[in-house]
Amino acid sequence: TPPKSKESQDGDSKAPLPKGVVLDKDGKPCRTCTSIASWRALTKQQSQTSPSSTATSSTSTTISTPATTSQSTPQPTEIPSDCPPDVEQLGRSTWTLLHTMAATYPEKASAQHQEDMQGFLKFFSKLYPCWVCADDFKTWMAHPSGRNQPKLGGRKEFGWWMCEAHNEVNRKLGKKEFDCRLWEERWRTGWKD
Ligand code: FAD
Repeated sequence: TPPKSKESQDGDSKAPLPKGVVLDKDGKPCRTCTSIASWRALTKQQSQTSPSSTATSSTSTTISTPATTSQSTPQPTEIPSDCPPDVEQLGRSTWTLLHTMAATYPEKASAQHQEDMQGFLKFFSKLYPCWVCADDFKTWMAHPSGRNQPKLGGRKEFGWWMCEAHNEVNRKLGKKEFDCRLWEERWRTGWKD
């Protein structure tokens, strides 16, 4: 989810960013953290304002949140298949990769395999291209109780853990939770007839 709102520290009076636009750590809009609908609203806004007043200014420190920066409400829209991904398309593709990794994980994983997957998840949670998503995922995994640590002993427990990780994001985004008893049918065996 986008980070909490942060007021511009240089006291400028730039037009508020459209709803849902998330800024990168360099203060510029982050495409892989933003939906295509919000991105289009942003480019429309930019085309209507002078270059010096656009939200892409490198001096901007405002971080947008839906509640505080809505100027226009972006409408749902399709993303062309040959365009860079938005936060949703990137997310769907990534969940496909992650659940498929769980579906093809050994029934009983060797110590080496567990170590490799542990390393993958560690770097994944640092390098995922939507930085706000990555930060939240890393924080969730590192819960002080240890309860969210990856369960890597074998396919069933890893697949269930991945489903819970995905449900954590679903809850945050206000989406329906997935019934984790069905993860293998969804991602490994296919649905029963
Ligand atoms: P998705 O959530 O992408 O799910 C794809 C398919 O997976 C579904 O159609 C369903 O069949 C299946 N599925 C759903 N839930 C589960 C589950 N629990 N277990 C197994 N299968 C399931 N977006 C943001 O806007 N903010 C964020 O902070 C954010 N964090 C993310 C963190 C990670 C690590 C990832 C990979 C993605 C994140 N996303 C985030 C993207 C977000 O999770 C969705 O991918 C995106 O909103 C598109 O959602 P969707 O409804 O198309 O389906």
